[in-house]
Amino acid sequence: MNEKQVKLPNEHDKDVLLNIKDLKKYFPITAGFFKKTVGHIRAVDDISLYVKRGETVGLVGESGCGKTTLGKCIVRLQQPTAGALEYRFGEKFSDMLQLSKKEKFAAHRKIQMVFQDPYSSLNPVKNIFTAFDEPMRVHGMKNPEERKEKIAHLLESVNLPADYMYRYPHEFSGGQRQRICIARALCVDPELVVCDEPVSALDVSIQAQVLNLMKDLQDKLNLTYVFIAHDLSVVEYMSDRIAVMYLGKIMEIAKSKSLYYDARHPYTEALLSAIPIPRIEEKKGRIILEGDVPSPANPPKGCRFHTRCRKCIDICTKEEPKFLPTKDDPEHFVACHLAETVDPSELES
Ligand code: SF4
Repeated sequence: MNEKQVKLPNEHDKDVLLNIKDLKKYFPITAGFFKKTVGHIRAVDDISLYVKRGETVGLVGESGCGKTTLGKCIVRLQQPTAGALEYRFGEKFSDMLQLSKKEKFAAHRKIQMVFQDPYSSLNPVKNIFTAFDEPMRVHGMKNPEERKEKIAHLLESVNLPADYMYRYPHEFSGGQRQRICIARALCVDPELVVCDEPVSALDVSIQAQVLNLMKDLQDKLNLTYVFIAHDLSVVEYMSDRIAVMYLGKIMEIAKSKSLYYDARHPYTEALLSAIPIPRIEEKKGRIILEGDVPSPANPPKGCRFHTRCRKCIDICTKEEPKFLPTKDDPEHFVACHLAETVDPSELES
């Protein structure tokens, strides 16, 4: 491969909506009477990731790998410790962590979140009309008649009758509540929606309905999703690209099909081997991961996965592998000493 042949996305790429650069979120661990900081939980540790307009990027990994914290940093429910969150506002690309108060307020409207639990996401003493009307009013949207019309339209778009707007959350089933939460996230016309395990609290029979609805809304409204889930089959169904996280870092990212059929990281291989396959003749051996996930307060030296990796070699315990594109697919990135990746000197800055 020629020198400087692999180009990474940057602020000049018109289709990149969000560009996360070297993002970190550390939570302090305090001890003693004076609450002295004695360490940090590295929930998100130096993550770089781009999201293109109109695509769905899935985030998968075990509980505690940092995927929800990353989602909360994107919607600014958590203040990152370091790094940049560059977002395209029209033609301009700005770091959301450096915006003025007024600009931040406008930016909040562009990025919304749908949470895992539809039961605690809605205020039980507010009816649906109030839950939708408040954010629209706060963002200075339209007159009362237009807002009411919009609420009716949003409810219909998630297959609920418009007159349900005067009902209270306890009058709905789990699936209906999650559809209401999705519609509420859309009431301020966002461009990017971070969906944090949006179907994991629902019955399996309802999950497909909600996922299909989210896909339809994405097509109609040209939405961009960051889709967080631990269920790999759900993520594959929803996502254009998938990022696999482990202990606060992205281990592998690729287009969905490429990740499922040509995984390059031993951790991804182990996760994929755990997916149930309906046809017995296609069943592959399950890779059982030994040991527990190490503490994010004290991650292992070298490759973070080396304490559980069946392919671990000497260098893995000493040197952290770089997160680099693979030689045959510049959109397939992996952090593993054994993967065939491009030489860092071949990357165009
Ligand atoms: Fe396993 Fe080594 Fe690759 Fe880490 S770098 S995933 S320990 S082979």
